[in-house]
Amino acid sequence: MKALDVNDLWRSSAGKLQKILNADIYSRWIEVIQPVECRESTLILAVDNDFYQEWLEENYLPLIQQAVNSSTDQQLEIKFVIQARAKADSTTDAPQAEKTRRKTIRERLGISTRQASSPLNSGYTFDEFIVGPCNNFAHAACLAVAQAPARAYNPLFIYGGNGLGKTHLMHAIGHHILKDARAAVRYISCETMLNEYIAALQDQSMPEFRKAYRSIDILLIDDIQFLAGKDALQEEFFHTFNALFDARKQIVMTSDRPVTEITRLEKRLVTRFEWGLVTEIEPLDLETRLAILHHKLHNMQTSLPDEIITFIAENVRSNVRPIEGALTRAVSYASLTGRPLTIDSLKHLLRDTLDNEKQEEITFDVIQRTVAEHYDVRLSDMTSTRRPRDIAAPRQLAMYLCRKMTRSSLPDIANAFRKTHATILHACKTVENRMAVEPELRDEVRTISTKLGKRLV
Ligand code: ADP
Ligand code: MG
Repeated sequence: MKALDVNDLWRSSAGKLQKILNADIYSRWIEVIQPVECRESTLILAVDNDFYQEWLEENYLPLIQQAVNSSTDQQLEIKFVIQARAKADSTTDAPQAEKTRRKTIRERLGISTRQASSPLNSGYTFDEFIVGPCNNFAHAACLAVAQAPARAYNPLFIYGGNGLGKTHLMHAIGHHILKDARAAVRYISCETMLNEYIAALQDQSMPEFRKAYRSIDILLIDDIQFLAGKDALQEEFFHTFNALFDARKQIVMTSDRPVTEITRLEKRLVTRFEWGLVTEIEPLDLETRLAILHHKLHNMQTSLPDEIITFIAENVRSNVRPIEGALTRAVSYASLTGRPLTIDSLKHLLRDTLDNEKQEEITFDVIQRTVAEHYDVRLSDMTSTRRPRDIAAPRQLAMYLCRKMTRSSLPDIANAFRKTHATILHACKTVENRMAVEPELRDEVRTISTKLGKRLV
């Protein structure tokens, strides 16, 4: 391949990446890549330094590979090399891009403690949060923290599945505190924090980064599970955490899983995250789903027949996002067509949502049966206390699969196996550890999960 082709190939691949990545990520991580050459079916791409190299290899290589594959018939391996920017400067407007990039980093770090840089969603308030059996503990804990920051529970750790209101509650804490205090509230997703951290390393502005984080009064970090395996950030965050905690500042974190299930998270962080209060938002119950629907309808200043509301509440269960989507569609149908909405037309309108919901419905019973069958053990052994390894191991695997493949809460899973919460967590950990070193077990998990209709590994 000639040099020109490399540029074309990269331009086309980058174009594809631009379409799927958000603009910030694209300009930070992809725009900085320079194509070098294609040699012996290797596409060589240059970046400025080893941060970029490692970060791209660890996080974006599969995406980049995909984009390159779809831009050429050749099977190319991708290799990053470190190369100073000077060479490429003559052909592109890279210096300008670099200047802009540095400026935004500074701007970001400079204003990061001000409210303007972490706008809270104005709709995510306590008033707009519907409290029900599935989330009342989490809600009460958040309210307590908002009313007495750093005195009630510190840190506060909220975990639960997707779309169950973790981010909403976190913003609500921020709004509540800002209502009557001039505190420095900072809401940030863990991924953005990581980007800022790397930018600060790049930019040699770590002192500013630290200063910015340590001058925060209320730190709200969303999706902390993103720390998994990011050792350097964990180290940095450990010190930030300690500094804030010692200065009696409030820290709130959310995660899509319990602390102990975040893989490759340093022990000392696990311990600290559990210092204050850990609270779970459980999967939505019918009562809460109905209350959410009524509340949102009220906000939309409209109404729907009871049977329509009940149908949505009974059939769209996974999380609040598809419930909101279903509601919007139902409401707009009536106003767009001018015809009353029937259950049949609603079913048609929501067919994709309903299909998704069905696919996600894997029950404990089906998992237990499938596992028992696969290992040729009795179904009753799934809930027994018999200890022989040929029974205990499949049982642990079934627990693990219930945790991974259903949205049910730990207590519900524990119930289904007639075991304690701790036993389930232990089983999950054991299976994960074994899978890391036993390829045969991974194969078995793949086979069983495929049988269950949702391949896991
Ligand atoms: P998560 O962060 O847990 O993934 P979000 O907080 O982003 O979920 O919530 C998803 C959407 O559902 C948001 O629009 C949020 O306002 C809404 N939502 C979630 N839980 C509730 C609730 N209990 N009451 C009202 N709205 C909710
Ligand atoms: Mg969220």
